[in-house]
Amino acid sequence: MSAPDYAIEAKALEKVYAASGKMPEKRALNGIDLKIPRGEIFGILGPNGAGKSTFINILAGMVTKTNGTASIWGMDIDAHPRASRAAIGVVNQEVTMDPFFTPEEALELQAGFYGVPKSERRTTEILEAVGLEDKRDAYVRQLSGGMKRRLMIAKALVHNPPVLILDEPTAGVDVELRRSLWSYVRRLHESGTTIILTTHYLEEAEELCDQIAIVNHGDIIASEPTAQLLKRLDQRILRVTPREELTSVPENLKTLDIKLLSSGDLEIAYRNSETGIGRLLEQVREAGIGVADLATSQPNLEDVFVAMTTETA
Ligand code: ADP
Ligand code: MG
Repeated sequence: MSAPDYAIEAKALEKVYAASGKMPEKRALNGIDLKIPRGEIFGILGPNGAGKSTFINILAGMVTKTNGTASIWGMDIDAHPRASRAAIGVVNQEVTMDPFFTPEEALELQAGFYGVPKSERRTTEILEAVGLEDKRDAYVRQLSGGMKRRLMIAKALVHNPPVLILDEPTAGVDVELRRSLWSYVRRLHESGTTIILTTHYLEEAEELCDQIAIVNHGDIIASEPTAQLLKRLDQRILRVTPREELTSVPENLKTLDIKLLSSGDLEIAYRNSETGIGRLLEQVREAGIGVADLATSQPNLEDVFVAMTTETA
């Protein structure tokens, strides 16, 4: 089959977890549409509880969707459950490992599970790629947390999938290992693998991903190239409390993105990469405004969610 344009395509994908015990019904995915182009490193960014793992687990066949469709590598997951899943390797959020196998045994078992013939197995190559060749005969319970994570990635690669999906690969991982995981992910990407990762760290998505989809409360609220998204994040707010009350915005400040709030404060939005705060304050002084107090703020992820949801509303 020729390579599809999209590694993953979801249409109106919905998941409602049924009520159980004291837990009420939970709508985790609210009919999302998402297209993940082949060949990218694609980030799915959102706070805890946003629905990221639910999405991944539907693709992996571990959670049953309530409605909508999804396809992997051009194959519908309902019509072609086995073939579609053979196109992805999924590394789950939780580290789960049988402590009594060695890394080599773990990979061989996994290859057997996927029906990879002995002659086509790449156990040694994969162990080398994730830097575990000298631990091939160690018991998994003797591996450090970081090594276990790398072994999980290795296991997801045994059937040579064109798409690797990493669910929060670096949550709870130290900085050094995070760096080495990132560089490994980049190498895989360079060799042609489409990479999808979920994260609640903006900086992680920013550093690695070509494109970022932001998910919040089960909705995709943005999906765009990283550079474009970062432009929005560049916005800063300067709030000035004038010493004397103003009745209107002074004429020579009207070129700025400025508002006079009902509290009497002036609120100026600016781009951090373009305008220094010193220059802004100079302009305020030049307008004859005495400054009683000032504060700056920059949007965090939560603000970005809010800004985007109100923009599109
Ligand atoms: P994320 O991975 O973005 O943190 P999840 O997909 O794990 O989010 O969860 C989305 C929402 O669905 C959360 O409110 C979570 O509590 C709920 N949820 C996840 N798994 C289950 C489940 N098995 N049963 C009921 N609710 C669930
Ligand atoms: Mg999760």
